[in-house]
Amino acid sequence: MCLDKKQRAPQNKAVIFNIQRFSVFDGPGVRTAVFFKGCNLRCRWCHNPESYEKRPQLAFDKQKCIGCGSCAEHCPGSCLLSDPVRGLVYNRKDCTDCGRCTKGCYAKALSRIGYEITADELMQELLEELPYYQESGGGVTFSGGECMLQLDFLEEVLRRLKEKGIHTAVDTAGNVPYKDFERILPYTDLFLYDMKAFHEQVHRELTGVSNVRIKDNLLRLSRTGTDIRIRIPVIEELNAAELPFMKDFLWENGIRDIELLAYHRMGVGKGDLLLEPVRQESFRELDACKMEEYRNRYQI
Ligand code: SF4
Ligand code: SF4
Repeated sequence: MCLDKKQRAPQNKAVIFNIQRFSVFDGPGVRTAVFFKGCNLRCRWCHNPESYEKRPQLAFDKQKCIGCGSCAEHCPGSCLLSDPVRGLVYNRKDCTDCGRCTKGCYAKALSRIGYEITADELMQELLEELPYYQESGGGVTFSGGECMLQLDFLEEVLRRLKEKGIHTAVDTAGNVPYKDFERILPYTDLFLYDMKAFHEQVHRELTGVSNVRIKDNLLRLSRTGTDIRIRIPVIEELNAAELPFMKDFLWENGIRDIELLAYHRMGVGKGDLLLEPVRQESFRELDACKMEEYRNRYQI
């Protein structure tokens, strides 16, 4: 029996903000990385502050704005005011994220970060790269933000990729209930599991949340025998002292695949581009020799 449009089950949708093709850093081979919006950590060094909120957000480039007020005219809710003195004034409270203002901004000063995508639409995009996955032993990596916060969608797309024989990886900070891992475990070949600190208090200071659940999830996950690569961002002044503790914890629990990631300042300033600005901190970048030293000591 053929179902008409009204009878069809609602499509699983997610809010994502980027699909990056030909990625070679997020698992084996050539990959497509899908970045989800929404995160439940607030890492002090985050270079993707546009991923914090799950909803789409407005970005504003002051340099491009010509003060024409067309955005305000296109807004159905009077959420924008182009003021000659104060510039563009935004009333977030009444904004419905409809994006009409961006269409009215002919100077391209306003743009929307993040968009809804259905599982069918995403699958179609991901399958375009199938020959590259097959040739390179690559696949698809889900990242963010925290991709596990949009679990129904993630589970469906992972399952559909596995049905096509495509390698899947999930990049997670692990701050979700363990039962969420159990749901995606059958369809996930590799977990890229972030660790930022060993001690709970330090973790709270660096990310805003406890790491008790994160460590517990990691241990439970490792006992399933699934492939896990630990990824640790190194921000020397914040977590260098934590590295030996993290290594001991991981080794004691038989987790040996550890990758250290160099902090970079590339994303600093992105937070200012949001119409609801996010304050970002800046830290020292390590030179290649220093990073090599850390890798020799802690990485496998
Ligand atoms: S996204 Fe918000 S500010 Fe822009 S038109 Fe819609 S309601 Fe108005
Ligand atoms: S429409 Fe664009 S250029 Fe005009 S005031 Fe709004 S943001 Fe500025």
